[in-house]
Amino acid sequence: MREIIIIGSGPAGFTAAIYAARAGLNPLLLASSVEAGGELMNTTEVENFPGFPEGIQGPELMMKLQEQAEKFGTEVILDDVTRVQLDDDVKTVETGYSGTFEARSVIFATGSAYRKLGLPDEERLSGRGVSWCATCDGFFFKTKTIAVVGGGDSAMEEATFLTRFADKVYLVHRKDTLRASKIMQERAFANEKIEFVWNSEVVGIAGENAVEGLQLRDTVTGAESELPVQGLFVAIGNDPRVHLVHGQLDLTVDGTIAVDGRTSKTNLPGVFAAGDVIDPHYRQAVTAAASGTVAALDAEEYLAALDQVAGESAADLAADLVSATSAGNRT
Ligand code: NDP
Repeated sequence: MREIIIIGSGPAGFTAAIYAARAGLNPLLLASSVEAGGELMNTTEVENFPGFPEGIQGPELMMKLQEQAEKFGTEVILDDVTRVQLDDDVKTVETGYSGTFEARSVIFATGSAYRKLGLPDEERLSGRGVSWCATCDGFFFKTKTIAVVGGGDSAMEEATFLTRFADKVYLVHRKDTLRASKIMQERAFANEKIEFVWNSEVVGIAGENAVEGLQLRDTVTGAESELPVQGLFVAIGNDPRVHLVHGQLDLTVDGTIAVDGRTSKTNLPGVFAAGDVIDPHYRQAVTAAASGTVAALDAEEYLAALDQVAGESAADLAADLVSATSAGNRT
């Protein structure tokens, strides 16, 4: 049986692994078979991770985190967790191909998944012009005209990155102000290839086998219009990945895993959560990493307390046996 299983391989998961491994707990980290490394694998330059004044590419940062975790004894398996059983002292974690693992504690660092617009043609045209990842698919849009939807940092980042390939990028946002940080906004405003389409929501995607255009609705007047584009990048935020723990762990109104105050403690003993899956607000690589630290320390403390109780019970049992034996000797 393992001491700690960590589910998830973003900054939260790997930082938890570094701390748990350095504490001698030999953690097993289950990284997804297709999305190992988390969201930073789809990011280009990370400019705000402390310690990298020149910036660092997202995938490189994740490789370094994994290397650091493995250096101290973390075992990493690329497989998908399909089911978990969390309410007993011994937790079980089932995977797609690598079998079932048991552990005394589990840390969930499952991050979040791209939010979808919910349009009927979005799935049908996914991979045929509709995408959620500029770094993965941007190359296919060389010299094309495309649209990015969203008003946050992700949308600004995607739009700016996509101007490397596309001739023109429309930034479609449902309001007339952006949620994105000032520096990201300014970078997008200064880019001549980006044109902002304000107060507009995408209500339809046209195209039989590939995206040919968008149907937009003005959120102020209700007027509808067509926008001819060959690609649509959806960058409207993320939802926490909690499908594994539904019915077992308490969730917040935001849909994140509920934890006790600033700790990583869920409603079940021995089960901890860290990173974007508990954070609807800050969602930065650095805050996720810090959250992973908290989870590892909480798990370490929990395991030490279990060991202490087990040690005391064993001592009590031994004392009882000794007194029973000496009482027997007296008769
Ligand atoms: P955000 O939640 O910050 O922004 C989502 C945007 O999408 C909002 O503008 C929102 O509109 C819009 N939106 C949401 N739902 C819909 C919908 N159904 N239809 C149309 N528009 C919609 O998500 P991000 O992914 O941009 O950022 C998440 C976090 O990650 C933030 O903390 C951000 O700072 C961080 N981040 C940091 C980066 C960096 O520093 N380099 C890069 C990328 C992300 P509205 O404004 O109207 O709510």
